[in-house]
Amino acid sequence: MNPQVPFLDLKAHHAPRRAEFLSAIGEVIDSGAFAGGPFVAKFEQDFAAFCDTPFAIGVGNGTDAIWLALLALGVGPGDEVITVPNTFMATAEAISYCGAIPVFVDIDPRTYTMNPAQIEAAISNRTRAIVPVHLFGQMADMDPILEIADRHGIPVVEDACQAHGAEYKGRKAGSMGAAGCFSFYPGKNLGAFGEGGAVVTSNEDLKQKIQALRDHGQSRKYHHSMIGWNARMDGIQGAVLRLKLEHLAENNDRRRAHARAYTQALSSVNGLITPHEAAYGRHVYHLYVIRVAERDRVLADLSDRGVQCGIHYPIPVHLQEAYQSLGYQRGSMPVAERCAEESLSLPMFPELTEEQIDLVVREVRNCVGRTGASARRTAGTAAAACTSR
Ligand SMILES: *Cc1c(COP(=O)(O)O)cnc(C)c1O
Repeated sequence: MNPQVPFLDLKAHHAPRRAEFLSAIGEVIDSGAFAGGPFVAKFEQDFAAFCDTPFAIGVGNGTDAIWLALLALGVGPGDEVITVPNTFMATAEAISYCGAIPVFVDIDPRTYTMNPAQIEAAISNRTRAIVPVHLFGQMADMDPILEIADRHGIPVVEDACQAHGAEYKGRKAGSMGAAGCFSFYPGKNLGAFGEGGAVVTSNEDLKQKIQALRDHGQSRKYHHSMIGWNARMDGIQGAVLRLKLEHLAENNDRRRAHARAYTQALSSVNGLITPHEAAYGRHVYHLYVIRVAERDRVLADLSDRGVQCGIHYPIPVHLQEAYQSLGYQRGSMPVAERCAEESLSLPMFPELTEEQIDLVVREVRNCVGRTGASARRTAGTAAAACTSR
């Protein structure tokens, strides 16, 4: 059976502008500028302007963006980079691909982003960068993070892969650290027709290094001043992304409106925690993530009733098999671990209809309501534990 409310609906997202996309792709075909080139350069200009930064560098994907930003900042073998465990694996992978070691700190129990109070204890004389993740569309608490980083002379690289257009005290995601890294994976708030990513920065030296790194370390054709990689953005992605960027702000507004509707309808449900919007910023709801007890049962029940949900993420990175050698134990990041057990992502995309939202709300109320009194108490306890600071 097709789900009545899909988790994500890219067809609905692209259908209204299909002809425009085809014509933009046609231009790329006619010009032959497939790898990097003028379509990417034009998108870079527009995206830099959108992020309030002087420079944007288009790359192959979001993982490349984080990796190359860290490499350009000089992160290398034996160095340590501080980040959070409740993120997509790519944040830590990018650190590992520099030869560096990810050092995890736990998250704030309300915003699910890096807890600034945990950073200082994780800093060592090998710490070379701090990578906060603007998770689900909400920025981390950047002022205290930047204050600590500045005091120790450590650069901050923002993982803004879920936060295109999010704001912190009026400042755009990606514009506050030494570099901001974005993914244009199709399901992100700004998504390509395939893979894409970008680094934004105000630092010209960093921009030049990343431009060279993404193109085999050459600043001039066949003159390689460093060992780089092939991490260019495709011309077709540049052309499509430039078109889609025109509607990003409006689509973020629609996501926010849907989130408001969800929160209004669900915040009174016993044993359910709705997302917290920190007063410092503007959440752009890449994902709308609630927390419930018996999450896996609720997920399955909702699926049976035609509501497709997701889990972001079921296993925190410090407990992934791939990172066993780092030696983290269960219990070392209690807030992130609890969130991994309780988080449930409801359908969220700009084209959600009022009827779809009503259906999701009704079924969530049914499924969470079916929880026995004891389970509800468990959720209540979880809520208390996770909202107290
Ligand atoms: C999507 C994502 C990435 C990686 O981006 P890709 O384009 O898939 O390589 C990194 N960090 C976070 C938080 C993400 O959501």
